Amino acid sequence: MYKIAVAGTGYVGLVAGVCFAEVGHQVTCVDIDEKKVNVMKSGVSPIYETGLEKLMQKNYAAERIDYTTDYNSAYKNADAIFIGVGTPERRDGSANLSYIATVARQIAESIEKDCLVVVKSTVPVGTNDKVEQFIQDFLVNDVKVEVASNPEFLAQGSAVHDTLHAERIIIGTESKWAEELLMKIYKPFNLPIVSVNRRSAEMIKYASNDFLALKISYMNDIANLCELVGADVQDVAKGMSYDARIGNKFLNAGIGYGGSCFPKDTKALENIAKQHGYELRTVKAAIDVNKDQKTLLYKKASKRLITFNGLKVAVLGLTFKPGTDDLREAASLENVPLLLEQGADIYAYDPVGASNFAKVHPEGKNGKGNITYVTNVKEALDSANVCFIFTEWGEVKAVTPGKYRELMRTPLVYDGRNIYSIDEMKEAGVEYHSIGRKAVE
Ligand code: NAD
Repeated sequence: MYKIAVAGTGYVGLVAGVCFAEVGHQVTCVDIDEKKVNVMKSGVSPIYETGLEKLMQKNYAAERIDYTTDYNSAYKNADAIFIGVGTPERRDGSANLSYIATVARQIAESIEKDCLVVVKSTVPVGTNDKVEQFIQDFLVNDVKVEVASNPEFLAQGSAVHDTLHAERIIIGTESKWAEELLMKIYKPFNLPIVSVNRRSAEMIKYASNDFLALKISYMNDIANLCELVGADVQDVAKGMSYDARIGNKFLNAGIGYGGSCFPKDTKALENIAKQHGYELRTVKAAIDVNKDQKTLLYKKASKRLITFNGLKVAVLGLTFKPGTDDLREAASLENVPLLLEQGADIYAYDPVGASNFAKVHPEGKNGKGNITYVTNVKEALDSANVCFIFTEWGEVKAVTPGKYRELMRTPLVYDGRNIYSIDEMKEAGVEYHSIGRKAVE
């Protein structure tokens, strides 16, 4: 059992902290957000993740986890401090490392015994060398401190499962001491560990995320061509998926990737390459395709409808994917403002993301348009002139094609997630536009 502190209680930090407690370590989670800390102490998860709250309550009751804003008390006697604070995108696409720097400074001022600092946040290659130097420069006590890289691969929506059953744990270290300590901390998880040097570990994270983003953009590019040549991208993906070299995951065409990782990690790697005088052409292409893909359906619908002014527009799904309340880089955030600018009367449904969305677009009049948040799909579709599907929530997939025909004033559906088959929409008499497939008109 090790004494572990975790800096940052977002998707990465909180889930890591709870899972470390679950396997028997003594964990203190630190966050600067006092409200969040109080919420967590009361047994409530500040983020929506399946199974997280139950594990928080179980481990809090067993006194294996606690939450605090007092970083000094959490860091001073820790065997290891995991950093999971954000590394958001700067305007130029590079990663903003100011949160990491603040934590590094706080660690340097707090630690009173030898300690391994483990960076889980996604950081540009070489950052952890600098973090180690930075901590050593500001150290107050005479202790040994080293920095290791341990990038995180969880996917939001299945974060707890992905952590407890990870396909691999990547550790990047520069000494036997650091490598062995991290191995021991992860031993109870009983998962495959890949041990490499620190820079390779940092690179593995970007190379993995950007490969997945590339795969998505590639399929979207192919989907757009499918439409032009009369092929069906879902059949194409099915045919491709039997090839073990391609695999059967991440072949779904749609309105592009969002979330807190792919958009920023593609731009960050492109930026890292640029700084080294290299143009990462493949990743740049993935970024460009994704940018256009997000508003593809809006553009199609604009041509079909001339204007959205005064139309009742049903929006199904706001989050960047199902199973999360996260809106970062979601397609809805690009499309809803375009619709509002045109004077659309939007009725938006999302099972968990509506209150976060309302912080950006409050209910009621928004410029020329109007937005109302509804609690079920039926209310959104009722008398609607047009419907956009942005997120494939189970509640949205459960809507039968006949319901669009029955409830909408004009059954006109733009599906960004290819939920329905062309045949069933045709049979139900719905005008249906999706991605990379023939339209039903
Ligand atoms: P997040 O924004 O959800 O959470 C960050 C938390 O850190 C916030 O609660 C914030 O209050 C807290 N914080 C900021 N400064 C602090 C400080 N000085 N001390 C303590 N807490 C502080 O971030 P996230 O989505 O969990 O991502 C964190 C990192 O992990 C990023 O680098 C991200 O790229 C990476 N990552 C994210 C995911 C994901 O799916 N979200 C997956 C893999 C990797």
